[in-house]
Amino acid sequence: MANIILLGPPGAGKGTQAKRLVDTRGMVQLSTGDMLREAKTSGTEMGRKVADVMERGALVTDDIVIGLIEEKLTQGAPGGFIFDGFPRTLKQADALAALLSQKGLALDAVIELAVDDAALVGRIVKRAAEAAAQGQPVRRDDTPEVFEVRLREYYKNTAPLIGYYYAKGALRSVDGLAAMDSVSADIAKILDKP
Ligand code: AMP
Repeated sequence: MANIILLGPPGAGKGTQAKRLVDTRGMVQLSTGDMLREAKTSGTEMGRKVADVMERGALVTDDIVIGLIEEKLTQGAPGGFIFDGFPRTLKQADALAALLSQKGLALDAVIELAVDDAALVGRIVKRAAEAAAQGQPVRRDDTPEVFEVRLREYYKNTAPLIGYYYAKGALRSVDGLAAMDSVSADIAKILDKP
């Protein structure tokens, strides 16, 4: 059992890799983006509060996402948790460390999906086009304009976590631009290391 963070800019493939780990290892994916999108459609007060922020590509407040994660952590995960899109700020990273230690859980690895920006914009445009072609809903923040804002938020608020986890000795990097199967294989190698 392993608890891991998938770290990387929007469009790096965190969600795809997380879903594969759920299928192959019975891990539990905790995607704050998915939780927030669910809240948005559920018509709750919190959903209304976050809708506009998300559509602009900005970050939702730390307290909201930390609360969401805390709730899920109490449910437990025998196969381990995958934190996908969380933490996104240093405050969230500190809160996660505190929550894990309260529950007696370890953070086994922080896996960075390393990618370059130009490739990311292409990926996000493709993701929107594929979803549209399959008749699936297209994320409203998957437009080139909003994507730029999300990328800027990433560099300003989230990229510092790379140094934060490196300093803790927890950071592992994989080439996020490699083929999907090859990224999965690299992640498996990290997880299976004794
Ligand atoms: P994602 O699906 O991870 O790309 O997240 C979609 C949007 O949800 C982001 O652009 C933010 O507006 C919001 N969001 C998701 N996770 C977080 C987080 N950990 N902290 C703040 N905002 C978040």
